[in-house]
Formats: sequence, C-alpha cells, structure tokens
Amino acid sequence: MAFVALPCRSPPKLTVTMLRTFLHGVAAMQNPEAHFNEAFARTVDIGNTIADQDQQADLWDIADGMLAGALQFWLYSRQPCGDANCEDCAPLSTAQSRMTELKRLIDQFAAESEYFHTPQDQNVGRA
Ligand SMILES: [Zn+2]
Repeated sequence: MAFVALPCRSPPKLTVTMLRTFLHGVAAMQNPEAHFNEAFARTVDIGNTIADQDQQADLWDIADGMLAGALQFWLYSRQPCGDANCEDCAPLSTAQSRMTELKRLIDQFAAESEYFHTPQDQNVGRA
C-alpha cells in the first residue's frame, strides 16, 4: 500500500485586507488608490479561483505564476519613455534601478501584509 503524504500546502482562503498606503508619483491617475485596491483584490481572487477549481492544486505553483505575471506587468509598466531628460523616468531608467524600486516595493508590501509573520514561524516563541 502506497503511503500518501498529506500536502503541507493546505489551501487556506486568502482574504483581502491589505490597504494601500503607498503614494503614487505625479503620473498617478485620478483615483490611484481605487485602481490599486481593485488590482490587488482581483489578483487574490484569481488565486482563490484557481485553487477552488482544482483542490489538488499546489498553492505555491499558483502563487509563483501570479507573481511572475504581476512582475511581467510591473516591468512592462515601468519602461522608460525614451526621453533622456525625462524626470519621471530618470529613477527607473536602467534595469538595475527598476530592480531597486521593485525590491523596495516588495519589502513594503510584504511588511504591510497580515501574512508576513505567521504563528508557525520558527522564530515565534511558544509558552
Ligand atoms: Zn519618461
């Protein structure tokens, strides 16, 4: 009889509670917070939908695909306009500077996430 290990990636339902505190630059649209919140909520919904459609799906695979897609869109959105004197694009005018900004955002969004720390973390004290 084959032993079937239970997956460690049990599918909890991710809830949308993260709020936008990050401010946009001068190129922001009229309602940047609403657009951020909609993109955030719909991204989480996509992950939950894919997981709901296949109970055997690995949440890590879903999350990695979502991250890759988000990264693709983010890099697409941050292409400099080509004007060497553009002040808006100057901070993002090289691949390295875009990665610096991306890592800054990753740090910020992770810190704002309620899932950043978990009760199962190895460094959590247990009484
Ligand atoms: Zn520009």
